[in-house]
Amino acid sequence: MSAFDWMDEALCAQTDPDLFHPEDNNRYATARKLCATCPVRTQCEEHAARVEGDVSRERRHGLWAGHTPYARARQATAEPQEGPEGDDRDSLIRRLAERGGMTPEQIGTAAGCTARTVQRVLARKAAA
Ligand code: SF4
Repeated sequence: MSAFDWMDEALCAQTDPDLFHPEDNNRYATARKLCATCPVRTQCEEHAARVEGDVSRERRHGLWAGHTPYARARQATAEPQEGPEGDDRDSLIRRLAERGGMTPEQIGTAAGCTARTVQRVLARKAAA
């Protein structure tokens, strides 16, 4: 059992990922409706807070638990938080890549690592 099993029930994983990563940050209406009915919204919100920590608004991407990058940045505490490590981090990277709509840089920000690490983890999966 992984710390990320809740993602299997995420409604965003069952629809168009672009809804959660629109080019115009003001166009989250449809994604917000999905988040409002998502059975794992609480886990999603806790996860976003943990992996994003206190990074700036510019380093936050997409809608998580119905919250925009701007709203999450505003809610973040000043206390830095650590991202997951080892297998948990790799699992998160793979799930975010499968979810779609995020660049390696954005996945790296969410997972607390570099885009190069993201690419290494995904390449390892492809070779397996
Ligand atoms: S609450 Fe989180 S997991 Fe659920 S649809 Fe929204 S972004 Fe996805």
